[in-house]
Amino acid sequence: MTATADLMDRARLLDEADPLAHHLPAFADAPGVIAYLDGNSLGRPLRELPETVGAFIRDDWGTRLIRSWDEQWMELPMVLGDRIAEVALGAAAGQTVVADSTSVLLYKLMRAAVAARPGRDEIVIEAGNFPTDRFIAAGVAQETGATLRWVEPDAVTGVTGADVAAVVSERTALVVLSHVDYRSGALADMPAITELVHDAGALMLWDLCHSVGVVPMRLDEWGVDIAVGCTYKYLNGGPGSPAFAYLRAEHQGRLTQPIHGWWGAADIFAMGPEYAPVGGIRQLLSGTPPVMSMLAMQPMLDRIADAGIDAVRAKSVSLTDFAVQAYDELLAPHGVRLLSPRDAAHRGGHITIGHDTFQEITKTLWAGGVIPDFRFPDGIRLGLSPLSTSHEETLRGVLAVRDALA
Ligand SMILES: *Cc1c(COP(=O)(O)O)cnc(C)c1O
Repeated sequence: MTATADLMDRARLLDEADPLAHHLPAFADAPGVIAYLDGNSLGRPLRELPETVGAFIRDDWGTRLIRSWDEQWMELPMVLGDRIAEVALGAAAGQTVVADSTSVLLYKLMRAAVAARPGRDEIVIEAGNFPTDRFIAAGVAQETGATLRWVEPDAVTGVTGADVAAVVSERTALVVLSHVDYRSGALADMPAITELVHDAGALMLWDLCHSVGVVPMRLDEWGVDIAVGCTYKYLNGGPGSPAFAYLRAEHQGRLTQPIHGWWGAADIFAMGPEYAPVGGIRQLLSGTPPVMSMLAMQPMLDRIADAGIDAVRAKSVSLTDFAVQAYDELLAPHGVRLLSPRDAAHRGGHITIGHDTFQEITKTLWAGGVIPDFRFPDGIRLGLSPLSTSHEETLRGVLAVRDALA
């Protein structure tokens, strides 16, 4: 049997045994798409969404009009935050809100954290972190007179406790890291790193953009202070759907974010002369929430809850393990490098492969209906969103890369 036929047999066996396979047909068809391998950047829409959005416009908005604010929308940022916390964060209610974008929430919470550690003047951040995280940290440092201290871990294996221990000190106010690295997919040891940051007296902010909805976590148990994340990646909230932030209960009322809008005030409708912050998690809000942009993530959260985040992770591991096997057999012989950890325990939901032709090859792949994404300088990311991706689809993607190389 050829390597390809053998891999295809294995893919089909894995798909037949997949306990979450019944979710696959729930996602909308994309005509001409042979393999969608970018669910880690923009999750696919559920098939039911045109009806969901139509019903919202017809009923909640069209019929109830402004009465819907009192009836349901005022509380939606907190209700939906609690749902994300319950389904994906391992966090109790009252500590998570949906708001703004990840970038804006990073700003608000970095400012709040630095202000809460007076006398400390360093923000520790990883040199390879996502650009917006680094840019916003640099802006906050400029505004507050703090200095950035860079962690420079191995690009493939990702940040370790030893990397962080080497730079934190009595000067550290805040450490900002990604749970899953957006390039390599490396998974950081959240409980161990959080603990050593606390030992240094600093606050810990985790960016969950590439882990929420695919990697289980226990924010409450692991002592995490602050976390932010996107909802349009593995939570399938749609382009530009708002982000979420977690602020541990004990910090609420102590850490206050700096954009003092009426939605974070103690009494929203007091219309008083000055801002007085509300004590709870709502203080993270500034202005009117984007209610329509919160629609699409809700049925996806229900699906993740129904599957269970541990089963989602098991499927994710199966998909990335299979992708690594297919890489070994089909791409390594062409000189393609694996830029992700080999051990699934140290990896999130995507893998990255490298070759100096990949910028060009990505265009060929997209033209042929195979859609991964390209990350500078020479990486292709294969994002394998567990509920919407099969092993066979994964293999079709890897085969297309091999064919493009040949
Ligand atoms: C996707 C992503 C973002 C995106 O931030 P936006 O404000 O939604 O544009 C930020 N940080 C990380 C680590 C990401 O992966």
